[in-house]
Amino acid sequence: MPVLVASPVTQQLAAKLRLRAAELSALLQQHAGAAVLATDNPPDVLDFKDVAAGDRQAIIDEAALASATAELQRIVAALRRLGDGSYGECQDCGEPIDERRLFALPATPFCTACQAIHERPAMPRR
Ligand SMILES: [Zn+2]
Repeated sequence: MPVLVASPVTQQLAAKLRLRAAELSALLQQHAGAAVLATDNPPDVLDFKDVAAGDRQAIIDEAALASATAELQRIVAALRRLGDGSYGECQDCGEPIDERRLFALPATPFCTACQAIHERPAMPRR
């Protein structure tokens, strides 16, 4: 049976990615549960301050949720690359990604140089 030989470094990074993926999944599930509860059980009495605070919280949650979803997608893609053996190669230039960069950002698909190119044309979304 062919076995993918993973280096200890790759195994460590895979563990980090799986852990983070589990955290993010839990967060997203929690949020989905909270949203359901909020619509099913609206509080009887709300004063204006509570509503305003609640709205602000919802906006923050939505942004956090969107970034959690995006991060989870990057992690899933990274885990897929771990599975097919292309993990650690830049998805643009094919060069190996620096190990220190992988430890800092295990889900990154690009080397530092390509990441800079990717970030330049994209307008920051705020
Ligand atoms: Zn590259």
